[in-house]
Amino acid sequence: MGLRKLVAGNWKMHGLSSDLDEVRTIAAAARDYPGVDVALCVPAILIERAARAVSGFAIGGQDVHQAEKGAHTGCTSALMLLDAGASLTIVGHSERRDAQRESDEQVKAKAEAALSVGLVVILCVGESLEVRESGRAVETVRSQLDGSLPETPNGEAELAIAYEPIWAIGTGKIPTMGEIAEMHASIRRTVVKRYGSPGAGMRILYGGSVKASNAAEIFAIADVDGALVGGASLKAADFMPIVAAAAASLP
Ligand code: PEP
Repeated sequence: MGLRKLVAGNWKMHGLSSDLDEVRTIAAAARDYPGVDVALCVPAILIERAARAVSGFAIGGQDVHQAEKGAHTGCTSALMLLDAGASLTIVGHSERRDAQRESDEQVKAKAEAALSVGLVVILCVGESLEVRESGRAVETVRSQLDGSLPETPNGEAELAIAYEPIWAIGTGKIPTMGEIAEMHASIRRTVVKRYGSPGAGMRILYGGSVKASNAAEIFAIADVDGALVGGASLKAADFMPIVAAAAASLP
């Protein structure tokens, strides 16, 4: 089944006012690819200015707190993201699962909080190198999904899963195409089992060292419905060829 592709950039802790021109450039270039959903997840403090700079283009957060409001110093609620102009958010990125010790249970609560206010959620899962080498990657990701998928996903367009092997993030290494295919097929089976037919329409993104040079090959794999892109999303010159590859992969 060919789903509409989603290519989302994760700017991580990069981006100042001076980078809003790059956001504008990417948003303008994305108009040439109406068949692809393109988004940029920028630092929380830049969301409002980015959203104002590019009306009609999807700007997202990189994390959200699970509580509606309260004594959570330094955190951002789902309503705050929405209020700032975000239309989506990443949850459960491996850098947060690792550095902030986020559990599957927390990731699930974050996803549910974001969905409850109408944000689209990109929920990340992925195995470490040690797990990959031990042959337990598929079962590990299945267990992450079991623990972190939201109870009610709202609809098929509101929840996307990003498979991001931790060892492929920012390293230039990627799994073999067969390994990506095997994992995406397993994730598809898991979401269909969990949600029924809406699971067949949920996008499963690949993330981890996606670049112009490997994007076409990755997008040709069954059940790869887009990409979550880190380093290569910071500059239009690197990001747009990935969007173009997504567009070219459409039937
Ligand atoms: C990411 O951090 O989500 C990511 C995929 O990074 P990179 O593309 O730089 O590997």
